[in-house]
Amino acid sequence: METLVRRELITHSELFLIDHIIIHKQYLFRLKFTSPFQRMKKIKIIITNSINDFWAWCKRSVIYPTIEKIIRVFLNQKSFRRYLLFNGRLLDMMNRITHITNDDRIGLDQLEVDIVKGCNFRCKFCNHVSPLRKGCVPLEQLSEWFETWSKKIVPDRFLLLGGEPLLHPEVEKVILAAGTYWKDSQIVLITNGMLFPKKSQAVFEALHTVHAQIHISKHFDDPEYNLKFQESIACLKKNNLSFHIHHSNQKWAETYRIDRTNGHDKPLPFNSDFNKAWNGCIAKKCVTLFDNCVYRCSVIAALQGAYREKVLDHSWNVVNGYQPLSPDCSAYDIFVHLSSGAFPECCVCPEHLNIVKPEQFQLKTA
Ligand code: SF4
Ligand code: SF4
Repeated sequence: METLVRRELITHSELFLIDHIIIHKQYLFRLKFTSPFQRMKKIKIIITNSINDFWAWCKRSVIYPTIEKIIRVFLNQKSFRRYLLFNGRLLDMMNRITHITNDDRIGLDQLEVDIVKGCNFRCKFCNHVSPLRKGCVPLEQLSEWFETWSKKIVPDRFLLLGGEPLLHPEVEKVILAAGTYWKDSQIVLITNGMLFPKKSQAVFEALHTVHAQIHISKHFDDPEYNLKFQESIACLKKNNLSFHIHHSNQKWAETYRIDRTNGHDKPLPFNSDFNKAWNGCIAKKCVTLFDNCVYRCSVIAALQGAYREKVLDHSWNVVNGYQPLSPDCSAYDIFVHLSSGAFPECCVCPEHLNIVKPEQFQLKTA
């Protein structure tokens, strides 16, 4: 039976405009209502045991994202840090879900889609395993995925990436389709940029039409590469497109182990403690659309895709066990799936972030 316990805290704060938060009952008593709470104005604490209550509140609340601000304040508080560690569900939710619309669509910080599986580079530790994969997702399939999921999810940012998205033969149409179905989202193109000088005017026009943000990842730093990189930048400037550069050549992390015993580099999972891998994960926000399903992160989507394409061997069996959200799922299913914390398949990832030098390598494709 549903039990709601309400408490009124009448205190003072200029910091927060929210009027109530809701917390799972079993965790609440780990909180001490000390300084940050006491600075708030009329905070109503609703205690619940039920995910359904929490769901109902989230649907009603237009100020839901502001909870994140409270959590940030509490991160500096010893008592609340314990609470955060214990109450993984609440904290994990903040990484992805931002709000719920009146028509029951789930607001996300971002939603990604790999429109191309392969890449023109072979970056070691590419976490979309693109050096191993080939091909792209046809426009018709992508349009079907966009139509299905735009009725269920509203991302602040909708990211087109890969692999290298500019390898898609109909990339301009994919960009326009993204802008049509995700018209309330910022469309973002994530690319290594090398192919811009070879693209037709239609691609640049499509990027203008949807007001796309362009993020270019710079992977290397040798003279030949730098020359080509500058040509790409010049091409964007000539077409009046602004862009952001991510210096991936300065910060690149290991995403799998490498076995070199057979004369080629073969990726292997870490087989980590999945809770530790999750705690150190930097891809928690990367909710991904793949194969007309929604995956909790781009890494598990790419690994499962690569495993089913038979380019990863039985060492990666575990990734096949992950069940993404299917097209017939409800808003509540999405809410629960994307609210939960570590999942067993996180064991493929490292327990600690290990920054490495970016380099390309030769992988044997199966
Ligand atoms: S450029 Fe990006 S997608 Fe391509 S191999 Fe490198 S990391 Fe992977
Ligand atoms: S599988 Fe888990 S730990 Fe690995 S990137 Fe995805 S969410 Fe993070």
